[in-house]
Amino acid sequence: MRDEVKGWRTQGWHVVRRETLVGDKARRGPAPSPRSGAVTAIVPLLTVLIVACGPTRPGSMPTPGEGAVQPGALAPRLPGIPFRSGALELNVIHPSPGAVLGVRDSTFIYGSTGTGAARLQINGEPVEVQPNGAFLAYLPIPADGRYELVATTGVDTARLERLVSPLPPLPSLAPDTAVILPESISPRGARTALPGERIQVGFRGTPGGIATLLLPGGERIPLVERPLTLEPTEGEVAFNMAAGEARERQARGLSSYSGYFAAEPVVAADAGVPRPTLAALDSSAPRRSATLELVVGADTARAALPLNIALADPDRPVVGVGRAPPLPAGYGVVIGRPGPGYTYAYFWPNETRLTLTGERNGEYRVRLTPELEAWVARDQVRLLPAGTPPPGGAVGTVRLRPAEGYVDLRVTLPDQLPFQVDEGDRTLELTIFGGVADTDWLLYGPTDPLVRRAEWRQPATGVYQVRLHLNRRSWGYQTFWASNGDLILRVRRPPTIDPDHPLRGLLIAVDAGHPPAGATGPTGLTEAEANLQIALRLRPLLEAAGARVLMTRTDMTALSLAERTTLATDANADLLISVHNNALPDGVNPFLNNGTSVYFNHPHSLELARSLQRALLEEFRLRDLGIGRGDLALVRPTWMPAVLTETLFMIIPQQESALRDPAVQERIARAHLRGIEAFLQGFAREDSRRDSWEER
Ligand SMILES: [Zn+2]
Repeated sequence: MRDEVKGWRTQGWHVVRRETLVGDKARRGPAPSPRSGAVTAIVPLLTVLIVACGPTRPGSMPTPGEGAVQPGALAPRLPGIPFRSGALELNVIHPSPGAVLGVRDSTFIYGSTGTGAARLQINGEPVEVQPNGAFLAYLPIPADGRYELVATTGVDTARLERLVSPLPPLPSLAPDTAVILPESISPRGARTALPGERIQVGFRGTPGGIATLLLPGGERIPLVERPLTLEPTEGEVAFNMAAGEARERQARGLSSYSGYFAAEPVVAADAGVPRPTLAALDSSAPRRSATLELVVGADTARAALPLNIALADPDRPVVGVGRAPPLPAGYGVVIGRPGPGYTYAYFWPNETRLTLTGERNGEYRVRLTPELEAWVARDQVRLLPAGTPPPGGAVGTVRLRPAEGYVDLRVTLPDQLPFQVDEGDRTLELTIFGGVADTDWLLYGPTDPLVRRAEWRQPATGVYQVRLHLNRRSWGYQTFWASNGDLILRVRRPPTIDPDHPLRGLLIAVDAGHPPAGATGPTGLTEAEANLQIALRLRPLLEAAGARVLMTRTDMTALSLAERTTLATDANADLLISVHNNALPDGVNPFLNNGTSVYFNHPHSLELARSLQRALLEEFRLRDLGIGRGDLALVRPTWMPAVLTETLFMIIPQQESALRDPAVQERIARAHLRGIEAFLQGFAREDSRRDSWEER
């Protein structure tokens, strides 16, 4: 059926986020945003986790075993660490030489001494050496970035120096000299704005001053001083470290000044500042640059605002069309974000037409409705000639057409309009931006058991919605353009599940996470290797239970995230299970923040995540870090329930040691099997309950 419907598909919008920065969890922005820039130094695996424990502090350092236990919980079921009596050999895995640490206070350092008989000091602090020689410590970051390690067995002594780049200390400015820190000035770069749009402006500088922005037209905009508080790092946010703790880190001798103005043409004094591409700069006036001014006592500092603003014509917006680079499956998907550089929210197949109303440093603002905007990467959009009418118009006939594995909802559109799919437990809602209902016909086609009811509505001008009420819980869907420009929402039928043999006949995609990237444990075990051993043990278990198994990899060859998800989607896998083990970003205390977690993205994957989390917790009794909705490439496919498991932590010595143990690998695989089976049985039970209701 697929070849009949040509065009672009979004079912595999498993586009990579953050890939270039931190492995599969990496944000890949069109341009480095301040947010993403701040995490470039993070260890090669940043997992966005929500942890149910409190703030961490350097100094308190329980042993890894103790750290893994919740008060009142049963002891973790992990084997002890076997003794190793090798030669004394100091090796630091993390931080790597020259690493740029994204934090200032404390972070972890780990590696191995080669023997369990060694004693170790790092910068004079005694650090516990595990029986296999592994060590992990959470220590203040040395101001000069120099870690000095001394290990001794009584007979031999080994020394190692590890030099890293800590964040430079914040400057403390003299109270009587006006200073504007040039790097702190924002905004900068290229903007296209609507006339009057609010533009925020700010900088850091000497406390106690009077700050003003002088606009080209002569207007003076006051900026308000606030004491500068250091924002928590992305890792601290992800691990739910208390906001109060971050607030304690108030910078001394430095203030933040901020204000805003209504957009008007601004031309940077520096010709090297990037120019906007959506509208022309107004260079007609003799002077068009804006200037920041800070007065402290008798001293005044000035700095040019490194910003170009062009004004867009609100009545004649520019129209663009999606042209993202193709994924391995041959189609491209434009990513829409709620704000510039923010998280992924919309997935539009190439050829989608977009009304553009603004621009900010490499991203365009898309108008979806007068109250709703999205941001897309500039290089994923081709601009159409000026005067192209903005997309929108009548939405015509809507048809349902059942096929063997799915039901297609086909919507006749005037243009390839941006859209959004919202999933409920038993509903799918398609919102089309710019559409106006002219749906005389909503045709159900041949009688079909999956879709109980379909309806359209027009909740606002330019917002058209079709809602499908399903008889069963949603299993997955895809969206793509038909060759004639119709929008197709393909609703997947759940597989037939035999409650007594729930895996029989299903196709399970098993993805061993990494390479590339992935964490490395203290004694050098890579996450990619650990994940592969678990996945290779999971395969025969699934097969013995009657499933067919699609392995995304069976050796250590690197495979991109997009290739992994494309494999699963194109094979029509019924489930996608991505096997990982966790690590931490710099600055997070590993003794307090480790445990088991499972991630999903779409509502139809939630129960699978919950079921796997339960099975993994029962098996190992580690801290319950919970399930979480994550914006990770491996859980974004819409065509099937897809989850990513993080059973153990690579960087915790006892857990790394366990991951080398074939018996533990087998236990992880069996827990995965149990979790998958429990999910399928739950789905089948729900179905049989529904059937018996309907028979009454
Ligand atoms: Zn991983």
